[in-house]
Parts: sequence; C-alpha cells; structure tokens
Amino acid sequence: MDTVVFKIGSQRTHTLTISFGNAGQDNWDGLFNGRKIYVDRTHFNDPKYPTAYMKPSIASQMSIEQYWTGVIAHELGHTLGLDHTAYQSDLMFAPTSDGNVITKYLWKRPIQRSSTGLDGTETAQISQRDLNRAKLAKQLDYW
Ligand SMILES: [Zn+2]
Repeated sequence: MDTVVFKIGSQRTHTLTISFGNAGQDNWDGLFNGRKIYVDRTHFNDPKYPTAYMKPSIASQMSIEQYWTGVIAHELGHTLGLDHTAYQSDLMFAPTSDGNVITKYLWKRPIQRSSTGLDGTETAQISQRDLNRAKLAKQLDYW
C-alpha cells in the first residue's frame, strides 16, 4: 500500500508549505522549523550564488539549479524526521553537528569526505545511507 506523505493542497488545506525567508546572519539557505520549509530569499535571488563564492574547482562540478534542488530535497529529508549526518556525500550532510535537533554524536569535520569535494546537497543526490535512514524513519512511524 502506498503511503501519502505530501498532498497538493490549497491555501486552507495543505500538508507542507515551502516559502521564502530571511536567513540574515544565521547563514542558512534552507530551513525546516517543524512546520514550514524556508528558502533564503537573498541567496536564492542572487544569480551567482553559491558557485561564484566557492572554490572554482568545486563550483565547476555543479550547477546553481542542482544546488537549490539539493537544498529543498535536504529540507524535505528533515520533514521525514532525518537529522544531519557527518558523511559528506549524504544529502543530509552538515559540516558540523551544531544545530542538530537530537544529537547522538558530535562532529566538527566530516567523518568521511566525498570523492568530488561536493556535499550531498550540492550534488542533489540521495545516498544509500540517506535512503536507509528514510526507510528506518518510516518503520519508526516518523512519516
Ligand atoms: Zn539540515
């Protein structure tokens, strides 16, 4: 049996809202606060962000569209109950454990770096670990 996680809704009836927000100095590009996903308006509207601000050898391996797809996919992962990982190639990767909702372990640098130098959000790809964690979250009735 299929499980409906998100349904297309109306202004009055919906399961999830994605809207623009203002990260300001908090330095996020995407944020899930438990109710809504926010995308930072300033960075999203900067046609050179993020690639113009990255090392050229890293930036040349990705596109801006791919990056924003990854940001939204990462936030959708949070809506399924997934917290961050320390594995750089994961969609749910974060450089440090700072800001994790429930921290089971701490990290200040990746446990395992990706072969390209890109992180999972930048590649907009779901790793096998991301998939396994989503399946576990489903079994635990997170979604
Ligand atoms: Zn996150």
